[in-house]
Formats: sequence, C-alpha cells, structure tokens
Amino acid sequence: MSSSPFLPLPPGVEILTTTIIDDLLRVEVVSTRSRSRCPLCFQPAMRIHSHYTRVLADVPCGGLQVQLVLQVRKFFCDTPTCRRKIFTERLPIFVQPWARMTTRFSQMLQALVLATCGELGTRLSGRLGIHTSPTTLLRRVMAMPSAPPGHVSSLGIDDFSFRRGRTFGTILVDLDRHQVIDLLADRNTETAAAWMLTHDEIEIVSRDRGEDYAAAARKGAPQARQVADRFHLVKNLVEATLPVVSRCYNEIRQAQAPLSPVALPTVKEWRQAPDANAERKRLARLAHNQERYAQVIELQRRGVKQEEMAKRLSISKRRSIFDPYAPYLLARGPQGCRDVSLLWQEIRDQGFSGKIRTVYRFIRTLRQGPVELPAPSILDRVSVQEALWLLVRPVDVLKADERADLQELCQASQELSRLYTLVQSFGQIVRKREGHRLQDWKKQVTESGFSEVQRFAKGLERDKEAVLAGLTLVYSNGQVEGQVNKLKLLKRTMYGRAAFPLLRQRVLHAL
Ligand SMILES: [Zn+2]
Repeated sequence: MSSSPFLPLPPGVEILTTTIIDDLLRVEVVSTRSRSRCPLCFQPAMRIHSHYTRVLADVPCGGLQVQLVLQVRKFFCDTPTCRRKIFTERLPIFVQPWARMTTRFSQMLQALVLATCGELGTRLSGRLGIHTSPTTLLRRVMAMPSAPPGHVSSLGIDDFSFRRGRTFGTILVDLDRHQVIDLLADRNTETAAAWMLTHDEIEIVSRDRGEDYAAAARKGAPQARQVADRFHLVKNLVEATLPVVSRCYNEIRQAQAPLSPVALPTVKEWRQAPDANAERKRLARLAHNQERYAQVIELQRRGVKQEEMAKRLSISKRRSIFDPYAPYLLARGPQGCRDVSLLWQEIRDQGFSGKIRTVYRFIRTLRQGPVELPAPSILDRVSVQEALWLLVRPVDVLKADERADLQELCQASQELSRLYTLVQSFGQIVRKREGHRLQDWKKQVTESGFSEVQRFAKGLERDKEAVLAGLTLVYSNGQVEGQVNKLKLLKRTMYGRAAFPLLRQRVLHAL
C-alpha cells in the first residue's frame, strides 16, 4: 500500500498497515525517500543513523479518530564543514519537528475553537470524531502566532470592558483596512504609548475625549495628527445637555403649578389642599366613576341584566372587590337613595365584604358635578431622557408625533427652545464637518448661560486641534464602536472563559 485518497499524505510517505480498534484508526506510515536534507547546511544526506517512531494525531477519517504511527529516520550529515552530525528527517508543512499532531489537524482544532470556545468546541469535536479536551483546544489557540499588524497609517483607539465590565482593555483598529489589529489588556497611557512607539508610520490617531489616549498618542506617536472622534464629541454634548433639560423640566413644572390664593388659607384648608398630582388623580377617579355611571344608564336603557352589566363594566378596568357592586349602586344613586349605610347593607346582602368607607367614597364622587380632566401635560408624556433625544437628533429623522412633542416642549420653555438651537447647530457642524463654524458656536454658548454646555465648550477649547481635526477630516471611530460591539458578541459566546489572552486571540484570528 502506498497512499490513500482517504488519507492524503505528503510525497514519500507511505502507508504500511491500517488497524481499526473501536473508533480509532491506527495507520502505520513510513518515509521512503532515500535522502533527506540537513536542516543546518541544507545538503542532502543518505546515510541512515537509526529509526524511531513518532505517534501523531491526525484529522478524523470517516468519523474515526486517526492515529499516525510514523517511522522516522535519523541521518548522518556528511558535509565536513557542518556542525550538525546527526539529524532527524523532517516533513515540513505536514508536521512540525516536535509536534504531537499533524499541522492540518492542529489547524482544524484552531478553527474549531476560534469559531466556538473551549467547552463548546470540545462537545462539537466529539461529534466530529475528534477526541480532545478544552485545555488542549485552548492551548492550540493560545499557541497561534499573531501576525504582526504591519503598516498602520490611521489608527482608531478606544476602550472596551471585559470580565463583566469590571476591567477595561484597549482596542486598536486600522481605520483604513477596517480591521482590529490588536487588543491591549488595560487602558493605560503607558501601554498604549508603548504599542504606538513600534509604529512610527502612524499618521492619524482617532480617539475619545479622555486624557489617557491623548497622552498616549503624544508620547507614542508624536508624529501623528490626533483626531477627537465625532462619536465621542456628540456623546459628551449629550451628557452636558441632560442636566439642562432636567432643570428646564423643573421650571416648567413650577410654572404649571396652580396659583396660590391671595388670602392665606386656614390651617384646615392648608392641610386639605391636595398637591397637583393628588388632585389630578382624584379628578381622574371621579371622571372614571362618572363614565361608569353613564355606561350603567346606557346599559340599563338597553335592558342589560345586573350581572352582565358588572361583567361588561369591569372589562379592561382594574378589578377590586367593589367592582361587581358598582353597577347596583350606580343604579340606586339616581333613584335618590343617599343613605350610605343602607346602600352598604344592601350590597353586603349581595356578598360585598368591603368597608362602608369604600361605598361612601364612591357615592361622594358621584354627587359632585361632572368634571373635566385637564389635558395631560407634555411633561407627563415625554420623560427628560426622551426630551433629550428629541433635542439632539436631527429633525428629519423624527416622526410626526415626535416633532409635535418637540414643538410643544419648545413652546413650553424658552430655555429649552434656545438649548435646542444650540444643540442642533453643533449637530450640524459634526454631521457636515463644518469645523470652521466651531468658533462661532462657542461664542453662542458663552452667551447662552447654560453652564454645563459652557463647560463642554471649554473642554473643546482645551482639546482644540484634535476637535478641529475631528470636525474637518473624514476619520471617525464609528467603525471602532462597531468592532467593540462585535467583540461584545464574541465575549458572550465565551461564557466564563473570557480571560483577556483568549479573547485577544479570538478577536485577532476571527474568521
Ligand atoms: Zn549539515
């Protein structure tokens, strides 16, 4: 037997015997070439010194685990000037000198663990006829050499969290090739600077607004132009805007509160004065009961029976033990019965187990005239956070009802309206990369009186050159954010094994 189409071997390697033991295919192979090159002087050698046997794991065949028993020889190197006297014959490409498995099998395992992770990879490999352990798989991945990043002219740098957000690392992206080129185990200035120092070809460093990466770029890539990333610029502005919106909300609320009476209220009145919210709730309850009353009248008119009425009325309403008896009381009320304790007796006879107070409260609300609920305020419909997003997003992406809300907000507060103009104008500078308008914008901010936004603008001043570059050049870390998201997904498939070195290998060798 020489070779087999089912188990291709390198030229000169032939199959001697095959044996199947359970699910193991044991293949004895031998190298038959008459000569082998000395690894030191590259001269062919022919004199055989000795034989020995290497056992290698190989790729599975027909669902069987494959074990190669390879007869290898040692040769004498007869080149007089060569320092190597004896060498072992090599099968480059097929197997590394000291490996316990063939190169193709090793590559298969690497692909497996890169696509899965230790635990899952082991389970899957069992199905594929590969016997291995999580440790072996992980060791294979960790042994993979990382290709050097090569030439990087535009570098995107950002941080990412691992180990459940307790630790931060640094992600480095080649912005031209849209590729992660390295992960660093922390987000320290020194570490990032040391990395950059090995790449004096870097021309652009796109980074966040923090001092750490800015300092790293100054130290590690002083030749590069720093670009304050637009994504982070907008993020910082949004953070600065939030407290202003929140303050405007408070001001609108105060303006909406009912006017205090001219005369001082008596102590009793004062105690009873409901706050705006409680009053709103009370009116809502009242309207709700009156609406029910109207429904009962209508149902009675149509001759609907009491049990049926109770059922219909309680649909889609919060149920209480009182609900089934409400129609009865509503029907009795207009007939002139105002004796609460009598009414209570009557429904108790029907099975009501609640207190007389409940009945009293119900009847009392009915005796008051029809009420009109004030329209719910915009502040109740749109939270501060939602308002913030209405202010910062470009108006053309807003839906019709969002635009209406935005308009109402701006009408409710002049401050909000002014804030909106400022925020939108910055958004335009960012989107259209109109860095030349920045100075103008800062002047408006200074005049605006919004202290948080003023602080943001001062921060821009400190980082002026990078900000201007960010607002002028095409570079942006948008794609870095995308890579961080991919990394998060990858991390999630790794369960407990998201230790940094493995994560790094998986990201850099991602399929
Ligand atoms: Zn030699």
